[in-house]
Amino acid sequence: MINHPITRLGIISALHEEQEGLVQAMQGAATVAHGMRDYTMGQLWGIDAVCVLSRIGKVAAAMTAIMLVEKFGVTHILFTGVAGSGDALVRVGDIVIGEALVQHDMDASPLFPRYEVPLTGIARFPSDSRLSGQLAGAARGFVDSDFMEVIGKEERHDFRLGQPTVHRGLIASGDQFVSSRAHIERLKVAHPGLLAVEMEGAAVAQVCFELGVPFAVIRTISDNANEDAATDFMRFVKSVAARYAFHIVRRFCQDAPGRPD
Ligand code: SAH
Repeated sequence: MINHPITRLGIISALHEEQEGLVQAMQGAATVAHGMRDYTMGQLWGIDAVCVLSRIGKVAAAMTAIMLVEKFGVTHILFTGVAGSGDALVRVGDIVIGEALVQHDMDASPLFPRYEVPLTGIARFPSDSRLSGQLAGAARGFVDSDFMEVIGKEERHDFRLGQPTVHRGLIASGDQFVSSRAHIERLKVAHPGLLAVEMEGAAVAQVCFELGVPFAVIRTISDNANEDAATDFMRFVKSVAARYAFHIVRRFCQDAPGRPD
């Protein structure tokens, strides 16, 4: 794919708390309601951007990504949100950047190999390496310079957050909230290298692949996709997730190439 500068950046999250503060930080913000979503356009630290909440699940995310490209003219897409851990080394509070995304509930076998999206020949959709690399830089900047300041002592204690690690690898998406040890173990076996599970990323990946739009996905780990997932998820999203997303997106925009000085 040709590496062109970001002319207009689409930023998607599933939930309000995963994007909190970004719309308020926009210069010259204007909102257009379309298809049950609010698309807010404006400047984010010098980048022309459109922020939108997709709501939850693959179809919701696909619809939002298509609209961003076809109706709002975005040239690049960033998904920011939370996810369940898909590996013992990936802990609550860590950050996962998707190098590739798979739909773990796709199964058209025996007509097509399991997990392959029919007629694309692909099971694992790669994210844009340049965008993902930039995002990893922003995430490391957040961990090294912002984390201790913006995540309070109480939250760090309550969620047992140490210095977060930034991981890069496989994210699996499906229309299921994974909340049992048995389920996440099955997914780990089926998808070697799995780091995180969520409900939207691979849908955005497929849309972006089909439309030829570079994209990246960043997820903060909110839970361990086990029996405690629902409780951990709710608490984490309310008190921590937004601060990660805000500062990582800020650093991403401030460092983006092609940005006017
Ligand atoms: N009960 C929640 C439902 C949230 S669904 C509510 O009413 O708001 C979980 C969201 O967080 C999805 O957007 C998904 O992408 C992500 N997520 C976090 N942990 C997950 C997990 N363990 N399994 C699947 N998705 C998860």
